[in-house]
Amino acid sequence: MEQTVFFEGAFVPASQAKVSIMTHALHYGTACFEGIRGYWNAQEEQIYIFRMAEHYERLHRSANILMMKLPYTVDELCDLTVELVRRNANRQDVYIRPIVYKSSAIVGVRLHGIDDGFALYTTFMGKYIPAEGGARCGVSSWRRVNDNAIPARGKITGSYVNSALAKSEAVANGFDEAIVLTEEGHVSEGSGENVFLVSNGHLITPAPSENILVGITRDTIIRIARDELGIPTIERQVDRTELYTCDECFLCGTGAEITPVVEIDRRVVGDGKTGRVTHALEEQFYPIVRGENPKYRHWCTPALVQAKATAASQ
Ligand code: PMP
Repeated sequence: MEQTVFFEGAFVPASQAKVSIMTHALHYGTACFEGIRGYWNAQEEQIYIFRMAEHYERLHRSANILMMKLPYTVDELCDLTVELVRRNANRQDVYIRPIVYKSSAIVGVRLHGIDDGFALYTTFMGKYIPAEGGARCGVSSWRRVNDNAIPARGKITGSYVNSALAKSEAVANGFDEAIVLTEEGHVSEGSGENVFLVSNGHLITPAPSENILVGITRDTIIRIARDELGIPTIERQVDRTELYTCDECFLCGTGAEITPVVEIDRRVVGDGKTGRVTHALEEQFYPIVRGENPKYRHWCTPALVQAKATAASQ
């Protein structure tokens, strides 16, 4: 069955949602977007959308960097998303992709004086990094975009050229994922994930000033580690060789969820298996995102109305 999308202010069949080849964003990378997961909870016959408001708050911040005005508030975006997920629901996990883009058919590299468009679609996404037994990563020869070039803290489509260069190089070199350094040579992040290390029982992750996208999963991990495992996270500059000498390493993101890293630049991380702390975080994380932990239920927005009651009354 054809998916419904939200495009130019209306819910329409995906095949009707088309943009012109002259669209500004297509030529100049002038758009920003989000990736949000909804998790199917079979027990409750419900889809829980994870930390949706935080994603839309970040979308508003990204849009502001690009001098765009989103035509909807965070609450309105959440309502539109719930409605779309409901329309497309098919009893499985869902990936939600909103995008705000410079929509005018205009030649001219600039941010001002161009119309903004908004679109939203849903699709399926399984494991983003399908690496059985943990990911093997390579440090990229590409450097992370600098805040004064293309700000990585905004989720801006144009900056994903940087990620795509790093990812394809890593895969061509036989790795599952790239870890990208800043211009100064410090660890920044994966091509689409934040990176954490465990060293001497400490959890360490590059600070926001290291040209990272400040991930919502990153924040989730920091909170779970602190509140459930009693492990504080140190946000600081991280040297490349700390990747080689740490006890554990993992990537995290909406797509990658928690992906243990077992090898970096052909050096085994720890004992080459998912580490103890990483495993403990995974055990907390997956029930939380699926809405199975009441303490964190406020992070999970139910998309389906009274799924069980509706099913029973039919
Ligand atoms: N860094 C980059 C470059 C990303 O694309 C993503 C995925 N959005 C992340 C980090 C992780 O962010 P989040 O946890 O908010 O998905």
